[in-house]
Amino acid sequence: MISGLPWDVAVIGAGPAGSAAAYHLAAKGRRVVMVDRSVFPRDKACGDGLTRTSVELLADLGVLEKFKSSTAITGAQLINRGGTHHNAPYRPRGPGRPGYGLVVPRIELDNILRKHAMAAGAELWEQFRATQVIRVGDRLDGIRGHRAGEQFDLRARFLIFADGGAGSVARQLGLGVANRMSTGFAVRGYYTDITGLEPVFQMHVPLTDPLDNEIVPGYGWVFPLSDTDANIGVGFFIGQQRDLTLNLRRLFDRFLVELTNREPGFAAMRRVGELRGAPLNCGLDPARSWRPQALVIGDAAGLVDPFTGEGIDTALESGKCAAEVVSFALDGHKPQRASLADYEHLLEQRFRDRFETGRKAIKTYFFTWKLLESTLEVRRPLFRALRETLLDYGTQEEARSSAAAGGTWSWLEPWTVLPFVQDVEADVASIIRAEYAILAQAAPTLVDPAGRLARIVMSLITSRYGRGDMQTARIVAAAVELGYLAQQVQFDIVEDKLPRRHSIGDSEPNWSNRFAIMVGAYLLAKSNSLLGELGAKPQALAGKTSAEACEAWLRERSYGRGRCPESVYLEVLPLKVGCFFGLGSRLSGTVNDLPELFVRALESFGNHLGIALHLQNEVKQLLDGGRSGDHPIIRLLESGSYSLPMLRAQLSNHLPLLMHQDIDEQTVEQSLVIVHESGALKTTWQLSLEFAERAHEAAGNLPDLPETQALLDLVSWLSEGSDPTIALNSPVPLGRASRSPVTPE
Ligand SMILES: Cc1cc2nc3c(=O)[nH]c(=O)nc-3n(C[C@H](O)[C@H](O)[C@H](O)COP(=O)(O)OP(=O)(O)OC[C@H]3O[C@@H](n4cnc5c(N)ncnc54)[C@H](O)[C@@H]3O)c2cc1C
Repeated sequence: MISGLPWDVAVIGAGPAGSAAAYHLAAKGRRVVMVDRSVFPRDKACGDGLTRTSVELLADLGVLEKFKSSTAITGAQLINRGGTHHNAPYRPRGPGRPGYGLVVPRIELDNILRKHAMAAGAELWEQFRATQVIRVGDRLDGIRGHRAGEQFDLRARFLIFADGGAGSVARQLGLGVANRMSTGFAVRGYYTDITGLEPVFQMHVPLTDPLDNEIVPGYGWVFPLSDTDANIGVGFFIGQQRDLTLNLRRLFDRFLVELTNREPGFAAMRRVGELRGAPLNCGLDPARSWRPQALVIGDAAGLVDPFTGEGIDTALESGKCAAEVVSFALDGHKPQRASLADYEHLLEQRFRDRFETGRKAIKTYFFTWKLLESTLEVRRPLFRALRETLLDYGTQEEARSSAAAGGTWSWLEPWTVLPFVQDVEADVASIIRAEYAILAQAAPTLVDPAGRLARIVMSLITSRYGRGDMQTARIVAAAVELGYLAQQVQFDIVEDKLPRRHSIGDSEPNWSNRFAIMVGAYLLAKSNSLLGELGAKPQALAGKTSAEACEAWLRERSYGRGRCPESVYLEVLPLKVGCFFGLGSRLSGTVNDLPELFVRALESFGNHLGIALHLQNEVKQLLDGGRSGDHPIIRLLESGSYSLPMLRAQLSNHLPLLMHQDIDEQTVEQSLVIVHESGALKTTWQLSLEFAERAHEAAGNLPDLPETQALLDLVSWLSEGSDPTIALNSPVPLGRASRSPVTPE
């Protein structure tokens, strides 16, 4: 049988990926049909965990309301063998965004999603098993399938394959995962009569094989459906040859024994229904994601996260991306052969880092696990960034989007500076990705976005004044960033006072410090070898700057914790911070043979701008609300660092309270109050404006060109103190409602 008029789009598979794509297309007024071999509601083996990202995507689909009765999950909890816990609470990632997760059985979730797509105008044909792509010459004309024993030909202008990990029709077009061998496996069961369940995603690591007690690259989960019921399961990925022989059921049984022995609340639980398992396909290859007229999304595209096994968020997001690209193509904006090529780039952009990180992490599972376990109770910036990257993939995207945050940086838009910044970030990531994918992904969160942008922009602007060699500007900017990151990582080397429980026999007590030292040296070496491409002179210049910065740090620290005089602090500031902002100009200017006067003015501009930004950041850190347990002040104190407001508050008052004591919540709270009441925030902010003014003066020595105007605009933006948390209504220390708001004004 042949259906009548061709559809705009036929979506094969009505799971989360297919329903999301169908919804977005139907909402744009496209004629879209979904086909699925099942009858809904249908079940699917899954942990049913909807992470915060998945929930955001459900909100985006306009369907979140339908899950009002489900328990809100407040965060993730990593539970190490040996009993240590690490909590990663969810918070909204922006105003009005949902800051929680959900656990919704797939029999319910998928049914709601497909109904939502249908309500938007999509049609669903159930019990339709797609079998073959229909071609007319070199064009695709639709999809052939069987329904109730009858053959159907369904004509459509575009096909979207969303038929899950086992889907095979897309392979007729060379789409989807090339290697059919699954990269992991997972199994789950529903359990009831549990007591003491908290609304968090529990992830238990490591899994061990009872046969030989070897660690297995995976985790066991408990995802609560209510305070007595949970979806419990285990999943693992194949990290080495040995893992191919693992038995999923054996791992699951061992996990249940450990769970019931360790946690009394699980002792009386019983299973409801069958265990269900399925492979996890994470072989994403964006180049195999599209052909003229056809796309592949969700599990069919190998979009299961290779470290965590999550695939619902990627299914929803790839469905949305596919709908955007197909809709654009339907409007005839692009030549037909290339009309869907943008989808490949979207997948690259959204998922490449995450998947590379995950694959790497699985291969080096011991290393990753050690990294997690050894550092869970440490608030050091590097480990914090790595941990967040492993536990929450929104981090990098967040850092990027805050760097690119519209208005603030619009002064540079005419020069399309943001693509340049992104290129440099991509260069930095690719330089360190080969060895440490996880570090590449975490790196952007280690530095403050405004500072990063300003440093990168200085290289760009110098190249604009010169011969405009963008390639050189990119190398310079990436090398400066790597050097700056190497400095930041030094904050992670701290006196190790925290008691730690190790469960791997060979853990070293100083592992975290060794790791931080190694990463710092590694980043510096990368920076150095990158500059080698430009010759010995830039290499020597950058080396000198790094050496001076180290000396400055040493000088400041030599006074002991918090005892550095303010005058010395201000003396070393240009050397340890400012110079990195001028370095890009110095290097670019040298390579491009720009006049010395010119380069000096730019360098001086960068140095002063850098200090202004640094001081403003010090104020913002102290104004930052948040829970006392992870307030930035603690990180500063643990690394033995002080910011200018703290030094000033200490002079005028009793901050020594913190100097030699163990840092507990009460002393932190008291110190914050002292800093706020000392007026040091205000005077530091004013000092930052003076440095901004000096930057302004330096720019006065530059020719009257649009580039110079942009630099001046940047200073004006800084001077206006445009950050609303500063200018208007700063949060109270530690978010206490009882205190009146504090501002440095
Ligand atoms: C045990 C386990 C636990 C998991 N836990 C989680 C978790 O907690 N959180 C998370 O985010 N992810 C989890 N995942 C991954 C997640 O289940 C998948 O990534 C997700 O289901 C992908 O959605 P999809 O729409 O791409 O595919 P699917 O949900 O598999 O949907 C595919 C649809 O296509 C239909 N279909 C297949 N072939 C045909 C055909 N020839 N013709 C017509 N229709 C067809 C099927 O009937 C199905 O409805 C888990 C996976 C497993 C195995």
